[in-house]
Amino acid sequence: MGKKVVIVGGVAAGASTAARLRRMDEDAQIIMFERGEYISFANCGLPYYVGDLIKKRERLLIQTPKSMFRRFNIDVRINTAVEQINPQKKEITATTVQGETYRESYDYLVLCPGAVPIRPDIPGIDRPNVFSVRNVPDSDAIKQYIELSQPANAVILGGGFIGLEMAEMLYERNLDVAIVEAADQLMGPLDPEMTAIIQKYLLDQDIALYLGDRAVSLNGVERTESVTLASGKTIPADLVILGIGVKPEARLAQDAGLAIGSTGGILVNEYLQTSDPCIYAAGDAVQIKDLITGLDTLLPLASPANRQGWLVANNLCGRPLKYKGAQGTAIVKIMDMTAATTGKNEKTLRKLGIPYQACHGLPNAHALYYPGSSVMTIKLLFAPEDGKILGAQIIGRDMVDKRIDVIATAIRAGMTVFDLQELELAYAPPFSSAKDPVNLLAYAAANIINGDVSVIHWIDVPGHVKQGAFLIDARTASEFAHGAVENAYNIPVDEIRDRLSEIPKDREILVYCGQGLRSYIVNRILRQKGYDVKNISGGYGLYQYQQ
Ligand code: FAD
Repeated sequence: MGKKVVIVGGVAAGASTAARLRRMDEDAQIIMFERGEYISFANCGLPYYVGDLIKKRERLLIQTPKSMFRRFNIDVRINTAVEQINPQKKEITATTVQGETYRESYDYLVLCPGAVPIRPDIPGIDRPNVFSVRNVPDSDAIKQYIELSQPANAVILGGGFIGLEMAEMLYERNLDVAIVEAADQLMGPLDPEMTAIIQKYLLDQDIALYLGDRAVSLNGVERTESVTLASGKTIPADLVILGIGVKPEARLAQDAGLAIGSTGGILVNEYLQTSDPCIYAAGDAVQIKDLITGLDTLLPLASPANRQGWLVANNLCGRPLKYKGAQGTAIVKIMDMTAATTGKNEKTLRKLGIPYQACHGLPNAHALYYPGSSVMTIKLLFAPEDGKILGAQIIGRDMVDKRIDVIATAIRAGMTVFDLQELELAYAPPFSSAKDPVNLLAYAAANIINGDVSVIHWIDVPGHVKQGAFLIDARTASEFAHGAVENAYNIPVDEIRDRLSEIPKDREILVYCGQGLRSYIVNRILRQKGYDVKNISGGYGLYQYQQ
């Protein structure tokens, strides 16, 4: 018999390790322990199961212990928690749900215990109608509660990706939904001017938002009936969902004396080996390197967990491979909208003092003349010197996923905005434009680096106007009449050459249009005429969400 590998945790990273290991080593003895009843289930599908979009529960169960045994010859032990590791003896202690405790030896141990939902210390948090969404039984419980108790309203604590997915699904089940978020914006991985678009959209759908506020008590007797916020507001709550975030499940490792990183995740080297060379770790529980900053980070996402599991198996089979770090590519569907991100956001770059430049664009998802086109808002972050791509965020209705994935790939390849300009992407009118939105943003970014245009962001505009900047709206007179920025002076792009006399030469000129293209043309004209001119990134399209 070959080496004996014990795996703790049987979902994303654990099951990925087990399956790859078997494909690489037919002789290994592989035992996978899972505390819960299910292995290899689709956590990411849980909100959609609660929402009844996924009707058949078994569709969430990608593998069962039986199928895992038949296909991979893996000894799966469900309902069995690993309670202790003895690294000196190279054995673990496990306890079954029936209370039987036994020891199991290993040659190598792989820790994939995931993360645990954060449960804030709020009075009333333990009432039965307050739910986390982490596993199949959690989702069963929410579903059952909805069906039996017919709640009229739900409060979601936390406006992250899972909170938003749950908001949508509960809304689809005809509940009145409120989201409470302690930060001033939803979706922390994105910047506030981008999430403003989603926030407005949710408000338009009658989803209540309480931003910059937090729950201080859950009120009720047997069940929570309302939530009181720090602001003093009280909102009705027949159902409360905790979507505040997760923390790495590092207790087992810590108790065994393994090193824990500064983030609270299990410390691993680039081969995903813990401080004990016979123990590896992967998934939400580990501290990893940020691909862009090189800093320590936690990134509880499925793609890194699967990749890490696969790598650990390779490393156990004598094919050493390094984990290069994660960049935080993520996407969420919010009703008819999609929000996606990859790489670093502006908030983080600023906080870390990393030089960056940002530009926004509002291109059409596909050719405007082909039916069904919609505008997407893209923010690109890049290094001001060489144009290296640092991050991107996209919000839109269609085809957001493919654009974010192109940029995510570019970041992974270490590409610059100049490389991005050159990408030859698939085009026909139903799918894109001859200059894809990704190319367009790259052109805009390259123009900034090359000094062909200067940009200013909406947040800085009022200050400049106060200092005497002259604000030009380059849209048509009728667009201007339908709504414009205070104190803006309307000179449509096509009239600019004839109306130069109206533009003061001794003041800074700031120009916007609807999406940024017309104002860019005005910028080029004025700059060549010797004006001190700047383009307002994102134009009126972005401005209207910031109010
Ligand atoms: P998990 O998949 O959580 O597996 C860990 C397992 O270890 C658990 O089943 C646990 O019971 C078991 N375990 C823990 N301790 C022990 C022990 N001592 N003994 C035995 N077993 C133990 N990511 C995305 O990228 N995109 C998404 O759309 C997305 N949606 C999500 C939606 C929801 C509702 C949730 C909960 C997560 C979502 N994620 C998403 C995150 C993604 O599912 C996780 O990043 C991924 O599952 C992490 O894999 P893991 O193996 O580290 O942990």
